[in-house]
Amino acid sequence: MSASPVIPVNEPVITPEAKQYVMEALESGWVSSAGPFLQKFEEGFARAIGVKHATLTTSGTTALHLALVSLGVGPGDEVIVPDFTMIATVFAVMYTGATPVFVDVDPETYNIDPAKLAAKITARTKVIVPVHLFGHSCDMDPILALARERHIAVLEDAAEAHGATYKGKTCGSFGTMSAFSFYGNKIITTGEGGMLCTNDDALAERMRSLKDLSHSPKQRFLHEQVGFNYRVTNLQAALGLGQLEHIEEFLGKKRAMTAGYHRQLQGIPGLHLPVTKEYAGNVFWMYAVRVDRTFGMTRDALRAALKERGIDTRDFFLPCHSQPAVAKRFPTQESFPVTERIATEGFYLPSGLAITDEQITQVCDAIRSLAPARSPQSK
Ligand SMILES: *Cc1c(COP(=O)(O)O)cnc(C)c1O
Repeated sequence: MSASPVIPVNEPVITPEAKQYVMEALESGWVSSAGPFLQKFEEGFARAIGVKHATLTTSGTTALHLALVSLGVGPGDEVIVPDFTMIATVFAVMYTGATPVFVDVDPETYNIDPAKLAAKITARTKVIVPVHLFGHSCDMDPILALARERHIAVLEDAAEAHGATYKGKTCGSFGTMSAFSFYGNKIITTGEGGMLCTNDDALAERMRSLKDLSHSPKQRFLHEQVGFNYRVTNLQAALGLGQLEHIEEFLGKKRAMTAGYHRQLQGIPGLHLPVTKEYAGNVFWMYAVRVDRTFGMTRDALRAALKERGIDTRDFFLPCHSQPAVAKRFPTQESFPVTERIATEGFYLPSGLAITDEQITQVCDAIRSLAPARSPQSK
């Protein structure tokens, strides 16, 4: 067995409450998809985000899929997504038979560029999916204005943005619907899991029905539509509730982590630290950096050197339009220059909730020692 990395890229924190609630769920016998923790977690989460309805799903991916089906998306429709995102955003569109339409991202926030959005809207556009990447909110006002004007639904992919805000309002409360992930490396985890939120009563009814095999409300075991089993167990909800109760503390840890990285990585030529726009309450799901040509070492060489020093990192997503699974079905000659560039320059540093100040210093010292020496004047 090879030695595990000294500093993992992510390590979750399981709170004492989470352990206690999971034990309670086990001892009560409510281990499947009924039980008191499901409702408690869904209601607590809806309150925390500021939405009327929330339903648990088996993952962030299935939350996105369920959202698109609830919104009536199918073959012939187009769904606008950023070219730079986790592939699940795009796969969810492809599951419905609709066509993903890619938009390049902003070079500073890495989020969908609203200025490039209008040109991509057609008569077939059914949904726009802004993704709040790495915990930084999208610039929602221009997106929402366009969507309203063109009568298009907005589905926020907030998988990386629990507790993030835009102009003081919580991400996940802007769109027609919003999807969260509770995968092990997300800000709140249920092991695997997701949440779909909406303020629309009719959509809420649809999403709950579709998630549970679309049993007819008139007659159980009568099905007028193809539904899914995206139900979650009471055990997972117990774990999620025990984490949700600590979200403020978790967000505080992310802020402290960010302050440590910012302070100790300032002023290294060619190393770009994450930017927070004035409209964003950034939750820094991951501390994402980029190295440009002037750093003197490629991103991949730097990552490999950090790995040798026991520091695990992750490179950025590849441009979605060029992923073989996507390009095979939707080949394009179009270029997405920002995404294509940052995909080669970007990576993220260890950012788990369990990271310590000493580990942060160790990471920063390693990066400093690897940065080519320069005279102080040659900024
Ligand atoms: C994690 C993630 C997803 C998918 O969530 P899973 O729970 O892993 O299925 C979707 N979109 C983004 C932006 C993500 O980071």
